[in-house]
Amino acid sequence: MLTQNLGYPRIGSQRQLKKACENYWAGKISLNDLNEVGRTLREQNWQAQLAAGIDLIPCNDFSFYDQVLDMSLLLGNIPERYAPVLSQVNGNTEIDLYFAMARGYQKDGLDITAMEMTKWLDTNYHYIVPEFKAKQKFRIFSEKIFGEYNAARQLLGDKAKPVLPGPVSYLFMGKEKKDGFDRISLIKELVPVYVEIINRLKQQGATWIQLDEPALVLDLSKEEKDAFEFAYRSIANRVSGVKIMVATYFDALLDNIQLAVNLPVAGLHADLARAPEQLDEILALIPDDLLLSVGVIDGRNIWKNDYERSLALINNAVEKLGADRLIIAPSCSLLHSPIDLDLETAIDPEIKNWMAFAKQKLNEIDELKQILEGNKDLLKVNKSAIESRRNSEKAHSQQVKTRVDNISEADATRASDFVERQVLQRRRFNLPSFPTTTIGSFPQTDDIRQLRASLKKGELSVDEYETAIENATTEVIRWQEEAGLDVLVHGEFERNDMVEYFGEQLDGFLFTKNGWVQSYGSRCVKPPVIYGDISRPADMTVRWTTFAAKQTAKPMKGMLTGPVTILQWSFVRDDQPRYLTTYQIALAIRDEVIALEKAGVGIIQIDEAAIREGLPLRKARHQQYLDWAVKAFRVTAGGVKDDTQIHTHMCYSEFNNIIEHIAAMDADVITIETSRSQMELLHAFSHFEYPNEIGPGVYDIHSPRVPSTEEMVALLTKAAELLPAQNLWVNPDCGLKTRKWLETKAALINMVNAAKLARERIMVENAV
Ligand code: GLN
Ligand code: ZN
Repeated sequence: MLTQNLGYPRIGSQRQLKKACENYWAGKISLNDLNEVGRTLREQNWQAQLAAGIDLIPCNDFSFYDQVLDMSLLLGNIPERYAPVLSQVNGNTEIDLYFAMARGYQKDGLDITAMEMTKWLDTNYHYIVPEFKAKQKFRIFSEKIFGEYNAARQLLGDKAKPVLPGPVSYLFMGKEKKDGFDRISLIKELVPVYVEIINRLKQQGATWIQLDEPALVLDLSKEEKDAFEFAYRSIANRVSGVKIMVATYFDALLDNIQLAVNLPVAGLHADLARAPEQLDEILALIPDDLLLSVGVIDGRNIWKNDYERSLALINNAVEKLGADRLIIAPSCSLLHSPIDLDLETAIDPEIKNWMAFAKQKLNEIDELKQILEGNKDLLKVNKSAIESRRNSEKAHSQQVKTRVDNISEADATRASDFVERQVLQRRRFNLPSFPTTTIGSFPQTDDIRQLRASLKKGELSVDEYETAIENATTEVIRWQEEAGLDVLVHGEFERNDMVEYFGEQLDGFLFTKNGWVQSYGSRCVKPPVIYGDISRPADMTVRWTTFAAKQTAKPMKGMLTGPVTILQWSFVRDDQPRYLTTYQIALAIRDEVIALEKAGVGIIQIDEAAIREGLPLRKARHQQYLDWAVKAFRVTAGGVKDDTQIHTHMCYSEFNNIIEHIAAMDADVITIETSRSQMELLHAFSHFEYPNEIGPGVYDIHSPRVPSTEEMVALLTKAAELLPAQNLWVNPDCGLKTRKWLETKAALINMVNAAKLARERIMVENAV
């Protein structure tokens, strides 16, 4: 029985790649230095995998920015606007072109926008979206993969396995730059270049090549299915003497299962961590000559593998196929997992014993193999860790579980309908039409970050820290009053991050020191770990919100993060369904909402920034997810009085498919991102006749640009054509945390003026 890995994290356990790239971009290190860091990281990764006894070890999984962008460069799929980067600028090399595509190019008199970036399926990893034009041509442009394979081969011999995005998924994940053609039709142009690449790798000595085809777990059209048939048949016809492994991951193959098992390739990889239930069907349909790679170790989470469960799956497959047609593997590339648990010295040892990062997962693959060969001790050790987690009081609270079981429809429902609440809230807050507000955070300057760092290091006492934060808060409140905003915020200066801040105060969460995962390019995130039942030992935001409220006579908005967002941006438990964990968080946030209300806070915003990104990959599963995600939000808000105003905020742009669910959340006010699309997004709300109040962001906070008053009045006028003007709020797109003070002040002053003009110019019915 063989073992394989599909990909390894490339950032380095000390985020060496991040630092090297950022230094190279800043002109602080040379290309040689950068390449040297890359070479060292690749070698370290290969050595680690060799040491762990892995039989097929990936290469070309390394990337300076993104593996999909690497593929675009390999295929010479370089949008025309980048041509000047190489041709006009002396000294620029391929890597400069590459980074220009990733990040844009704004020097040497050139100003070229970056390529679009989007989430890699349902992960938090962002890839650079390939751009296609109607007559797109492909040719081998970059030599990176051949160089990397050569180096890998020298170290690993036949174990070295080049990895690249498969042809259909590469097209699927891209975008037509102009309408009028279907990018999938480019498969005919694309396949010959894949054949050339594969043949060159074969000549260099490759025995296995992995083509990642995650599109096989998505809803596919007839054309897309045909493209798979065409691509792999053409490759099979024109390539021999090298084995192709098609890798699928993140979900079950479902209706694509026949298609997948019948592709004319040597091996198929299936994700059995996400979708163990698909094994039986695969085994029933798999042709005699196909090898099956069983992805039993979860490549996207941080939990120790349950060997008994994995062995049950593996043994099931062995019975049907025999050991020599099986390969043991992680479910997907380990890119999505932090690197080394050994570096975490501060985690409670009992809980640490339940966990595994990338390096430990490699070891798990090897241990599974050893157990199959008869080493029963390894199984025993694993069993005791799994049992410790199953039974530990640290992870389980009967009280929390009972409370979730007893959530009623009434808990998830406000006392009265929106129309009645709206009357009471208007009476209470007496706001003008087009009320102005912001999304919560104000610029987090270095001074503020420094305060937190000093507190952590013990250079600052808690008292000193709190006084400094109080001063910053008071100052931002004074400023908002002067600027004439209607509903104020406290600025979130006490928060590092909108999820971490709550996780740190809730039971059931832990934080790592080095658990970094690449998010995009040189950006890494360190998600909290939810290891146990979640509860709220004490108030979390009441202290800061009431402090802020006391500084002003204007309404002060309390600011919380919603349950789905906290779930989505954490490593979650795999021993209970996600919805149960979400309900536990929802109850904790509900208690905080009620505590804020009791303390006199009349307006409370519950951010659900991530509700849309939690949507399952397959449409058939959307409804179920949305049902519990919406219910979780309703539970957070369901316990307050009619005249307490609940806001929510979402910072993404596509609402068309989910608008009825957004409405079902029944927030009194929703603020959303709309300014980039010139209010286009509001059409979803308009068609649906969205009943509650809404603040379509009138300016883009992702850019330092200060929008003019008239520009914002124009947007408001457009919004008022689509929605009842009496329901409109005026606010920026998102929080102001990443902005500078100068542009923030100028933009908000213009925004307040725009609201004033809107009040004069736009007719509002039913105004107070
Ligand atoms: N309240 C948060 C802030 O203003 C919301 C951030 C977000 O939506 N991502 O920073
Ligand atoms: Zn936002």
